[in-house]
Amino acid sequence: MTSTNCIFCMIVAGDIPAQKVLETENVIAFRDIAPKASVHVLVAPKVHVPNVAAAAREIPEILAEMATVAQQVADAECDGEFRWIFNTGPSAGQTVFHVHGHVMNGGSLGWDA
Ligand code: AMP
Repeated sequence: MTSTNCIFCMIVAGDIPAQKVLETENVIAFRDIAPKASVHVLVAPKVHVPNVAAAAREIPEILAEMATVAQQVADAECDGEFRWIFNTGPSAGQTVFHVHGHVMNGGSLGWDA
């Protein structure tokens, strides 16, 4: 399940480069191209699902795998502690409509992070 013109599907396919930090059978984690904290990694499923509620409905096991990957990234990069943000909808700041959790820590993490 991929979506044409989806930048994260292109990263999953290897069609555009990304700084990958972790990969499992169903999940990929890569550094945000415009980091807003010293640790800022995006965790996404390889299949195209638009947002976190759709992921909970359609791929609940993979959403759980995403949580495990997020924890592994934080274990490696910031003592296992992290903020995990899912912007959902344009008015909430979502710009890429392929679900991804922002794993963040370090620096000042205001609520507008
Ligand atoms: P959101 O605004 O929650 O949809 O998050 C999308 C995130 O993807 C933003 O923080 C962007 O900086 C990031 N981003 C966009 N394109 C790329 C890319 N090619 N590689 C890594 N991160 C990207």
